[in-house]
Amino acid sequence: CKKNNINVVAYYSLIHNNWAEINHPDWKMIEKNGKSARENGGRYGFVCPNNGKYREFLEEQIKEMAAFSEYDGVFYDMPFWPTLCRCDACKARWKKEVGGDLPDGEDTRGAQWGTYVKKLQDWMAEFCSFVAEVTKKYMPDVTIEFNNAGIVAFDWTAGSTERISDLADYTGGDLYGDPASHSFARKYFYAITKNQPFEYMNSRCLKLYEHTVTKSKERLECEIALTRAHHGANFIIDAIDPVGTTDKRVYDLLGELFAKEEKLEQYNRGKMVADAAVFFDSSAQFTAEGYSFGNKETAVAAVRKFTERHIPVGVVANGHTENLSAYQCILLTGVQDFDNPEIEKFIKYAQDGGTLYFDGRSDKRLISRLLGAKEDGTVGDGRTYIAPKKRYEDVFCGFSEKYPLPFGYNLPKLILPEDAEVLATVCLPYTLPKDNFHFASIHSNPPGINTDVPAIVYRKTGKGAVIWSAAALELDEREVFGDILIGLLSFAGVKDFSVFADCSTNVETVTFKDGDTVYVNAVSIIPDKKCKYPLKLSVKTAKKPERVIELCEGKEISFCYENGRVNFSDEIAFEAAYKIQ
Ligand SMILES: [Zn+2]
Repeated sequence: CKKNNINVVAYYSLIHNNWAEINHPDWKMIEKNGKSARENGGRYGFVCPNNGKYREFLEEQIKEMAAFSEYDGVFYDMPFWPTLCRCDACKARWKKEVGGDLPDGEDTRGAQWGTYVKKLQDWMAEFCSFVAEVTKKYMPDVTIEFNNAGIVAFDWTAGSTERISDLADYTGGDLYGDPASHSFARKYFYAITKNQPFEYMNSRCLKLYEHTVTKSKERLECEIALTRAHHGANFIIDAIDPVGTTDKRVYDLLGELFAKEEKLEQYNRGKMVADAAVFFDSSAQFTAEGYSFGNKETAVAAVRKFTERHIPVGVVANGHTENLSAYQCILLTGVQDFDNPEIEKFIKYAQDGGTLYFDGRSDKRLISRLLGAKEDGTVGDGRTYIAPKKRYEDVFCGFSEKYPLPFGYNLPKLILPEDAEVLATVCLPYTLPKDNFHFASIHSNPPGINTDVPAIVYRKTGKGAVIWSAAALELDEREVFGDILIGLLSFAGVKDFSVFADCSTNVETVTFKDGDTVYVNAVSIIPDKKCKYPLKLSVKTAKKPERVIELCEGKEISFCYENGRVNFSDEIAFEAAYKIQ
């Protein structure tokens, strides 16, 4: 590698260590039945980061790794809790730091549960801090990376937060979701990485556990182009054959695809443009009682509402909330009441002039200090409706008092102050939806009982404003729900976006600004190069640009400039990158 000027990054698997479990059974993680994951039939052996002997071994391994060769970086995989460990080291640490018996994690609403969630995060962050410290001791010049996929991919049981990525020189990880979750994760990694570029890993096989089926050329090209479009560094995961070989054809293909994106990488300059930001709270990855979705599901869906409409959107995360005033609006969707200190910054953001959207049961501080409201239980029997008031019907895309907007869950009730403007109220079905002997329509539960319970509220607060919705408008994938969400932001004055593209939802646009120069990347999220997409782009600039160039083909694009916006049309064949100079 050194001879060919290739950086060498060592790989080390934390926690997952079958050799260590077999040879040092006292280090293993213990599951609730008193056995380890392997003893319960699993492939992977897990050793506990709270075990001092394992830590001593780990330091020896890092020391040995340092003596073996020279590296540019070290990548630490698996920095998360794969199971809720009940080993003696965990029990002892809990007893010392909290007192009493280690909770079993099953009683997710019990008195100790919140402390347990926080301890899992503290312990994993402290362990990774130990790993980073030991690495710097023996290899002071290497970069450190922890696999951050777990923050997005798992729930509260993993204990993964930005406190781990904050220890790393750059953020990266491997994810396997749909295009919307990849889009979310790229924006999130971009937001939290200490140094750009962040790294984004895709596997060359569709599933990590396969070994021989390579993804189609178009699919790989699509994934590589979308990471590049977010200014990320591409990393492709491939498993080495047990005999020590790799499939050369895969590398010929990747070489061809990387060469194409390399030509565009020289234009990866400037900062990502985002008019809206969506908050992802990694420290509270659980759902409120009675709900099947929480912050992560709604945050991914909220980002999608903006990307589908080609409105520039970013992600904000714990520990990365310095420049909130740069956003026209911030969305705090499905936020749990979990003592997150960052909430104070969002309250200040709204009071200083920002527009904040939040929904559901949410954090008590948002409800009391921004809405001036009090919680009053929930309303509904599994099916509810939101009925816009007559004078606000324009915002609700055809839904009305007679034909309100349906939801499949109960809604929180708030008691509001007089200065809160109620745009819509809760409407209930004629009959109780769970009563299958009394119903009003063969399949559905039509609306019929109007209430005065507030469902969508607008309130001015300080210099800014807040919108609260009882339901998670962003969660429903249907277009009209997104139109209503964007309509509500527009009602609050958020509408003059930096970029607007009239283009298929199959195309993702990502914009960067470098001084006066604007770069707009447009990439198809569908791996089908036969599709062509007409695009009309409108970009706000301080002055009339000299020229607009499409960088993939190097062609000059004719444009018009009016009211401070550059407007032009083009047709996208899979990928385009525009430089507005
Ligand atoms: Zn343990």
